[in-house]
Amino acid sequence: MENKYFHSVILKPERCIGCTYCLRVCPTEAIRLKNKKASIIAQRCIDCGECIRICPNHAKSAITDNIEDIKGKFKYNVALVLPVLYGQFDTIYSPDKILSAIKYLGFDDVYDISQGAEIIGAIAEDIIKNHSTKPVISSSCPAILRLIQVRFPELIPNILDIETPTEISARIIKNRISKEKSLDIKDIGITLITPCTARVTSIKNPIGVEHSFIDSSISIKDIYVPILKVLSSGNVNETKHSMPTLNAMPTLNGIICNNSDDFSMFSSYRKSLSVNGIHNAISILEEIELGRLNNLSFIEIAACPGGCLGGPLVVENRYIALNNIKNIAKKLKNHVIDKSNINNYFEMYNNGSIRLVKSIEPRSVTRLDLDIKKSIKKLNLIQNILDKLPGINCGICGSPTCQAFAEDFVTGNRSDYICPVQEIERKKGLKEKNNMIVKDIMDRLNLKLAAGESGLKKEVKDVYTCDLLSWVMAHADAKSAWVTIQTHVNIVAVAVLLDLSCIIIPENAEISDETKNKADDESIPLLISDENAYKICYELHQELIR
Ligand code: SF4
Ligand code: SF4
Repeated sequence: MENKYFHSVILKPERCIGCTYCLRVCPTEAIRLKNKKASIIAQRCIDCGECIRICPNHAKSAITDNIEDIKGKFKYNVALVLPVLYGQFDTIYSPDKILSAIKYLGFDDVYDISQGAEIIGAIAEDIIKNHSTKPVISSSCPAILRLIQVRFPELIPNILDIETPTEISARIIKNRISKEKSLDIKDIGITLITPCTARVTSIKNPIGVEHSFIDSSISIKDIYVPILKVLSSGNVNETKHSMPTLNAMPTLNGIICNNSDDFSMFSSYRKSLSVNGIHNAISILEEIELGRLNNLSFIEIAACPGGCLGGPLVVENRYIALNNIKNIAKKLKNHVIDKSNINNYFEMYNNGSIRLVKSIEPRSVTRLDLDIKKSIKKLNLIQNILDKLPGINCGICGSPTCQAFAEDFVTGNRSDYICPVQEIERKKGLKEKNNMIVKDIMDRLNLKLAAGESGLKKEVKDVYTCDLLSWVMAHADAKSAWVTIQTHVNIVAVAVLLDLSCIIIPENAEISDETKNKADDESIPLLISDENAYKICYELHQELIR
C-alpha cells in the first residue's frame, strides 16, 4: 500500500549548520530554513538525493536497511542488484564474482535486474509507437516520475506505462522462487542493493502500482566494503548466476540500463533523446511542456548526473564506474532475444503484470485555497509581495527563492515578513538619507557639550571607537563620531587631521582646559557622557542606522 508520507531522505538536525546549500539545489523547493536548521516539506520532496550529495556537513542521509535485520525477516532472502554495482569494482572482479560475494554475505540467492531491463528493451518500441501522447517519457527513474507529479503534472500522460526493470525483475524472481521452492510469496524477501534514495522510497511508496515486490534495501555505500572484503579474501568462485528465462547472464542488453547518455537502453531508437541530471531534466521537461519537442517520440530521463552511476548512494566516481561497465560489457555476448520470449513479454504487459496499472496522480503542492476567490486574492497578494522583493533568490531568509518567500508568507508557512536583503538596503538607504549632525547626536544621547560649539552642525556618517591614537590615525573614517576615554590635547589634533565630526568622552572623564580651548579653536565638538563607551557606541549605532 502507498505510504505517501514515507521519505527515504532524512535530515539530522544536529549536523545542520544552516548553510542554505541544500535550499538552492533542491529541484522542488522542498527545503526551508527554520531556526537556522534545514527542514524538508514532505509533500514536495521527491527523494532525488540532491541534498545528500551537496551537504558539506553530511546532515542529510538515507534510510536503508541493515543486512543482519533483513536476514531474520524472511525464510528465503534474495539480493537484487543493478548493473551500476559492477562499475564500483575493479574489472578484475566479474559480475558473477560480485554476485557470489553478495550471496556469501548471507543471502540465499542473488540476481541482477537484467531480465527486467531486457523485457522493457524488447517491448518498449512497439508500445512507444502506439502511445497517444508524444514524446513518451521513460518510467525507469522514480525521482523523475515524482518530479513530474510535483512540477509538471500535465506531462503525466506522457509517461511510459511500463514498470521499472527493478520491479519487473523482483516480481519474476519472487514468483519463480515461490514455485521452485514451494514457498509462500510472503516468505521470500527481496533486498535491493540500491544506488539511490528514489528507489528506496519506491519500496514503500511505489508509483503506478499497488505495491512493490521489493521488501528492503541496502545502499551500495553500506555494502561496498563487505563485498570487497569477500572478493579480496578469495572465498568466492566464478559461479554462474542465471536468470529465469535466460541462458547467459548478465546479458549485454540487460546490462545496458540507463547508465549514461551513450550507454542507454534506448539510444538506438530513432527520434529519441537521453537526458540526465535533475536540472537538465527540468529544462527538458519545460521544453516538452512548451511543445518544443513534439518531433521526438521518446525521451529517457534520469535524475542523477550520468544516470544511476551518479546516484547519491554509490561509492565510485561515475566516469570510472562507466568505464568499468563498458569494459565488462565488451566481454559479454550480445544476447539475442528469442521471439517466443517477446510474445510472453507482450502478454505480461497486456495482462497488466508489468504495466503501471494504477493512475499516477499530480501532487498538488501550491494549492493556495480550496475557494477559488480566496485563491485569486492570495495569488494577487503573492504577486504584490514579489514585486517588492529584490528578486535575487539568495535563500538567506530561509525560503529558496523570492517567489517561495512570498508563497510561504501568504500560505502561513512563515510567520515573519523579513527579507534580510531588503533590510540591509533599507538601513543603508536610511543611513544615507539621514544627514545626522553632531547636534542631533548630542540631543538624542543626552550628551553635555564641553567645547567646540561652532562645530555642532558637522555631519556624522559613522562611529569609531579606540583609545590608541596611532591606531585611530590609521583606521578611522572621516565624518565619524569618535568615542575615546583619552582627553589629552592631541585628540583634537587627530580629529582635525582625519576630519572627524566630534569627540565623545565616556563616563564623565575629566577634560583639561588646554584640550577644551584647542577644541574651541578648531571647531571640534567635545561631548561628555555619563555612559560607558560600549553603551554610547550601541546607541550611536541605533541612531545612525534606524
Ligand atoms: S531529496 Fe531532493 S527533493 Fe527531497 S529535499 Fe533533498 S533535494 Fe529536495
Ligand atoms: S537516476 Fe537512477 S540512481 Fe538516480 S534517482 Fe533515478 S533511478 Fe535513482
